[in-house]
Amino acid sequence: MVNPEKSYCPYCGTPLGIVECEGRMRHYCEPEGRFIYENPIPAATSVVVDGKGRLLLVKRNIKPGLGEWALPGGFVETGESPADAAARELEEETGLRAEGPVLIDIIHQNSEFYRTSLLIIGYHFERFQGKIEPGDDASEVRFFDLEKLPPLAFESHRRIVEIFFGDDR
Ligand SMILES: [Zn+2]
Repeated sequence: MVNPEKSYCPYCGTPLGIVECEGRMRHYCEPEGRFIYENPIPAATSVVVDGKGRLLLVKRNIKPGLGEWALPGGFVETGESPADAAARELEEETGLRAEGPVLIDIIHQNSEFYRTSLLIIGYHFERFQGKIEPGDDASEVRFFDLEKLPPLAFESHRRIVEIFFGDDR
């Protein structure tokens, strides 16, 4: 997959060529003799469940999925572990501080919005504390009964919820 919007080398600024390599069309910087690889972007999300077995969701205040409900989460920063990213985004979006991350699964998903593919890394946090306080990226934060979950913005989040709770929920 070559993103046509990336037309200059990010290292030296030369217009990029497109060359086939290992069965894929890839951006190539001629003067430097190097390929500019495109890789999926990792994002981390949290499954947080309260004492009544209800799932924490945020109503998104940003695109994509503006106005829809989703698991708390966001992109992993360079130098940050995915579990730390999930905990950071959780606190930023909901005000809750969580501990004890356990990996649920990693979901691969193509994204029209970001024009690349994403790796959505889902964690369950076993403990949390604090008071719910929606952050900038969330207009509303609340716990939902599993039987009354609203439609989720992203297929990857639906998969993570299904895998965590099992099909018999
Ligand atoms: Zn270059």
